[in-house]
Amino acid sequence: MAVLAGPLKIQTLDDLELNEKSVLCRVDLNVPLEEKRVVDDTRIQAILPTVNDLLDKNSKLVLMSHLGRPKGKVVEKYSLMPVAEHLAELLHKEVIFPDDCVGDGVRKIFREQKNREVILLENLRFHRGEEINDPKFAKALKGAFEVYINDAFGTLHRAHASTSAVPQLFEKRAAGRLVIRELEALNSLLHAPQHPYAIVLGGAKISDKVKTIELLLRKVDFLFLGGAMVFTFLKAMGYTVGNSLVEEGMIHRVQAMLDDAKNRGVKIILPKDFKLGRSIENPGSPQVIEELNIPEGWMGLDVGPKTVNYYGELLKEVKTIFWNGPLGLFEKPPFDQGTLGFAHLLSKLPMTRVIGGGDSAAAVQKAGVVQEMTHISTGGGATLEFLQGKALPGLQALSV
Ligand code: AMP
Repeated sequence: MAVLAGPLKIQTLDDLELNEKSVLCRVDLNVPLEEKRVVDDTRIQAILPTVNDLLDKNSKLVLMSHLGRPKGKVVEKYSLMPVAEHLAELLHKEVIFPDDCVGDGVRKIFREQKNREVILLENLRFHRGEEINDPKFAKALKGAFEVYINDAFGTLHRAHASTSAVPQLFEKRAAGRLVIRELEALNSLLHAPQHPYAIVLGGAKISDKVKTIELLLRKVDFLFLGGAMVFTFLKAMGYTVGNSLVEEGMIHRVQAMLDDAKNRGVKIILPKDFKLGRSIENPGSPQVIEELNIPEGWMGLDVGPKTVNYYGELLKEVKTIFWNGPLGLFEKPPFDQGTLGFAHLLSKLPMTRVIGGGDSAAAVQKAGVVQEMTHISTGGGATLEFLQGKALPGLQALSV
């Protein structure tokens, strides 16, 4: 059955006749690599339901993805070869890996492809045409395929060739299982969140999320703050921030946001304590302070234990929680304690809890509480834009 994304109607795999068809499927295999090995295969695991479904239908399956930012050039370290090898291990079958995504050589491989064979194309971003949504590149990708599937939720907010121009060339197009699961979970947050509704925002940069925060202030009852971004808020409120990360250029906008929140009756919740270090590279021995003014010569690198407990108490009153962004420098213990403590705390609360963004998803995984959450979204930017109610280019191109 088709799924609605705002005014758009999106078809699912169940809506199309897929038996023995040649299928071009956009997936998000932009995974972290170290020494040509996949170090976190969450995104590869996430596409398996769609891949297995298509193979069960005897399709000729061709997968395409980007990896990193090679900026239109062939850069060896961004080759998808290690991902093809890892996918083959997970599928227990060969994955054919051509050295390009378009051209005569690949077309020859497509002609020889048999039913139930899987091909993973080389990095789409080795071609400039991908990121500039070039119609010629899109036509080359389209080739003779009969069906287009998009199962790359994290890329739907980008109008790139493989997500925007290519699907529009297909009469038969649909979203894969992962995209549909995301749409169902996020739709309920966008259209019918149970109130009180709280967003918890962390991470380093406000500038990336400022529009989302402004728009979400119209929908939520509470905004809980953490991460480095809280220091731009604190500076805008007149606190001292020491050497903590602050986006000076955002201070006026944050002041306007605070006024807007006040007018709308949205409560902004600030930490009670911070864990401080001397710098990100060399934090020295950490200090905890139970006040909001950061002393000279120190950086706020995490929220403290009182904050985690305080947030937990307040959140008991809430019915829907959306969390995006770590509450501290979570890659560097002991500044991961706030984020991990918060993930543990969320796991024990009974309400709807949706986690968005790579870092928060990684934190939930590190805390070992994945199963306890209502939904962990695979998209960062795409999730935030969807929750603002924006029409995502990849969904527009997919709609029928
Ligand atoms: P973003 O991409 O804006 O969501 O930011 C995520 C990054 O913010 C992560 O790498 C965190 O380590 C970093 N971060 C969170 N809190 C802090 C902090 N207090 N000081 C420095 N970096 C932080």
